[in-house]
Amino acid sequence: MPTDTILVAGIEPESITDGPGVRFVVFTQGCTHDCPGCHNPETHALSGRGTPMTVDELYARIAADPLVSGVTFSGGEPLLHAGPLSKLAKKCRADGKNVIVYTGYLYEQILEAANPDWNALLAETDILVDGPYVEAQRSLAIHFRGSRNQRVFFLTECGKSFEKRF
Ligand code: SF4
Repeated sequence: MPTDTILVAGIEPESITDGPGVRFVVFTQGCTHDCPGCHNPETHALSGRGTPMTVDELYARIAADPLVSGVTFSGGEPLLHAGPLSKLAKKCRADGKNVIVYTGYLYEQILEAANPDWNALLAETDILVDGPYVEAQRSLAIHFRGSRNQRVFFLTECGKSFEKRF
């Protein structure tokens, strides 16, 4: 896959359920966490599914919609596409949009991995929601998360401004 291409499982162009405000959501293709009870099993295959889209293609769609105030990367596992997603996030943040990343990894695992692409995406992330989906901890009472074990990290001042919404 070229370095500016993301394998996309789906897009939600104006979501109000994947973070505060109206958000452009990119669901990436590919996930190895295999959480029992996952709601998006069709996103697990690492190849043979999904649509390759370039950073510029996705950015053009995001920039064209004045209603969109933020972007969310979900999955699948977005960290499998961290390099190009970091470039997309950087362009969107330059336009004043905030960035939320959902990952099945723990924040500590991401930091310990010292993976340059993961670090590049973290550097462009305002809010990180971490951890696998755990069906026994499923809750409809928490905002923007599927299960109570998932933690929310507000990584920037912009991210912190949304603290009360989670
Ligand atoms: S990390 Fe997300 S997409 Fe992957 S198996 Fe778990 S719930 Fe499903």
